[in-house]
Amino acid sequence: MKITEVSAVYPKWKRLPVGVWQSHFWQIVVRVKADNGVVGYGYGGGGEPACLVVNQHFRELVVGNEIETADDIRVLWDRVYALSLPYGRKGLPVMALSGLDLALWDLLGKARGRPVYDLLGGLCKPKVRGYATGGKLEQYRDMGYTAVKFPPGKSASEADVRYTVDMARQARSIFGDDALIMTDPYMAWDFDTTKLMADALREFNLYWFEDVTTPDYLEEQAALREIIHPINLAGGEHEFTRFGFTQIARAGALDIWQPDVAWCGGITETLRILDIAREHNVPVVPHRGGEIWGLHIIAATDCEDLAETHPERWEDSADELWLDEPQAVDGYLTPLDRPGFGVVLNEAML
Ligand SMILES: [Mg+2]
Repeated sequence: MKITEVSAVYPKWKRLPVGVWQSHFWQIVVRVKADNGVVGYGYGGGGEPACLVVNQHFRELVVGNEIETADDIRVLWDRVYALSLPYGRKGLPVMALSGLDLALWDLLGKARGRPVYDLLGGLCKPKVRGYATGGKLEQYRDMGYTAVKFPPGKSASEADVRYTVDMARQARSIFGDDALIMTDPYMAWDFDTTKLMADALREFNLYWFEDVTTPDYLEEQAALREIIHPINLAGGEHEFTRFGFTQIARAGALDIWQPDVAWCGGITETLRILDIAREHNVPVVPHRGGEIWGLHIIAATDCEDLAETHPERWEDSADELWLDEPQAVDGYLTPLDRPGFGVVLNEAML
């Protein structure tokens, strides 16, 4: 099939957080149409600037191309990446490319009448263990989750350490000894704070610390890995493409990789990141893996059996962009057995 149209739209989000990067550059919808009438939808990042990148440059490069196989998508990905190098490589342009890539996978799945996980070789996991991100610990336990990631205090102050220890203690007592308990300071800690927190939290047997510091401090993270062991150091949601993950691998910076399928370059690039992870024996737990875009790749590959969810987002339908997206049942998620990614775009949000 020949691609006849490519366009990106920034949805009318109603509940974006205020005063942070997400207020401006949150997720976009990318739409591709083929000459057989099939339409594919993808989910990228980067707000209106990413839409400009798709609607101006990428559109020019993509319209007119033939897509019959996953290999065709990869060849097109490489071409778009190469021709956007002077302004691309990381950040918003790669978030835009991720949306384009996911739209092409959705298109290919729909054209063949097969779910994306089938195009990736079929289901390895019939259902995926979800984990809840957030602070409503008892609610998550009641929903059936057996894994949780709570927000910690952001500094080394006595109050922040006490708060973090208290959250970890509550999580362990609410979820029990077998649960996976994680925490994510969202790059707010430094080397010393991470060490201090690891010592303070030692008795609660945490599974990972996520995104502790600036993602570019690779040597520092490699050193922290040793220090905080057996707590794992996780990260990668702010890294892009196989080139970025190759640097992480070389430095030995992380125990667990967390590429974001809708930011790091889409399904195409996540598959190549998984190849590198396999060579280095690193487990991969995609960021936001419980959203439909990550769920297909987790279910169809050797990613860890663990998918991030934000249960609060299901409580408020104001920003429900993708209809029919699976929610966790007894703490587990199942990708939809429908062509493409299987979700329906809520056109009212465009
Ligand atoms: Mg995170």
